[in-house]
Amino acid sequence: MRVEEVLSAARRALSEHVLCDSCLGRLFGMLGYGLTNRERGFALKTLLLMGAYDALKGETDVNTLRRLALSGFRAAQEALRKLRIEDAGEGTCELCGGLLERLDDLAALCVDAGRDYEYETFQVGCSIPLDVVRREEALWLKLGIASAESLKSELTREIGKRVAATTGKAYSLKSPDVVFIVDVAKWSVTVQARPLYIYGRYRKLVRGLPQNPWLYEPDRRVSYASSVEELITGPLLEVTRGDGAKLHAAGREDLDVRTLGNGRPFVVEVRNPKVRRIDLRAAERLINERAGGLIEVEGLQFVDGKLVPRLKAYSEIARKTYVARVRVGRELGEEDLKVLREKLSGAVISQRTPLRVLGRKVDKVRKKVVYSVEARLLAPTLLELTVTCQGGLYVKELIHGDEGRTRPSVSEILGTRAEVEELDIVYVEEPAVVQQYVRPAG
Ligand SMILES: [Zn+2]
Repeated sequence: MRVEEVLSAARRALSEHVLCDSCLGRLFGMLGYGLTNRERGFALKTLLLMGAYDALKGETDVNTLRRLALSGFRAAQEALRKLRIEDAGEGTCELCGGLLERLDDLAALCVDAGRDYEYETFQVGCSIPLDVVRREEALWLKLGIASAESLKSELTREIGKRVAATTGKAYSLKSPDVVFIVDVAKWSVTVQARPLYIYGRYRKLVRGLPQNPWLYEPDRRVSYASSVEELITGPLLEVTRGDGAKLHAAGREDLDVRTLGNGRPFVVEVRNPKVRRIDLRAAERLINERAGGLIEVEGLQFVDGKLVPRLKAYSEIARKTYVARVRVGRELGEEDLKVLREKLSGAVISQRTPLRVLGRKVDKVRKKVVYSVEARLLAPTLLELTVTCQGGLYVKELIHGDEGRTRPSVSEILGTRAEVEELDIVYVEEPAVVQQYVRPAG
């Protein structure tokens, strides 16, 4: 864009509209470098004044002087006074309504709103009334200007600069710790902190403890007024002072099943945390102390939230080992155990959705692999089975057969009923993918 074109567009804009320095300069925001829009606007008004008032020749362009004075340009106001020409007063900027004169106030609102939050990086977002946006677009169209920056972009940048200067925190476009959302119409700021994601593994040491508080199984006895989720998220919410937290686990054990061994992988998501640099070892100890022997957690680490869907998908295939105490309908001998080991180790199990979960899951046939089966007799009709299988296999059904919906099954192979008295998960394969998502801090 040639200088003459810039000047002529600026003159046209000012001849019909009252614009503050920033709003005038912003029309040419893409021109030049290392300048604020206020500096651009001031420079343009200065040039227009120089053209409108030639002291040597005694030529004055009163109209331009008046328009400049109206836009708040001090030098034009003084020139009119000197020439004893009545000015038309000072108007309010038609685009920002004086907003850009109050950037310090808006930045102070952000700083204040952020006082309760621990953060190193931040971003600013602005919500601007639609009519302001429309007015700005209309002006661009009318003047045929393609070099403009938007008010929104200037506001967020300028507020950001001021917040950074006051707090010493860094403006960051890529996953900032907090976002300040400035509502210009309401003159208020809300803060949204990036969620925290904490990976770990839990052991459920008792039967009758549900994984989630909302879990309700009418045919089973819930023995505790708590849940794995509450026992883990409660202390984490306390130390992070978040608004809420959710447990995303790699699968879920039945109410009456314990999870022992290396524990079940999970990610806790904490929404809007005020404190994010927590000591995870201390948090781990706090969870374990408070849980009073119902659960235990270990290996807490900060991770990226993208791990959550990966973890859920993974639980469908992750290798698990179960130990079951099984009551059978006849006395067994060593030969029966040998047959069980041989027929089930390496078998592909065809499993229709179990009758007990049919209400909430779609009826379909799954193919799952049993890698190995160990069997030993605890009593003539009491069997201990150690089953290592693919995730997603319903092990109780593998044992009792679910009225022929799971095949082959322990019951089918032995030719007698086989009922699970107790079931524990003693090993859950840890997804290798976790390491890709570990972060040094929250
Ligand atoms: Zn303005």
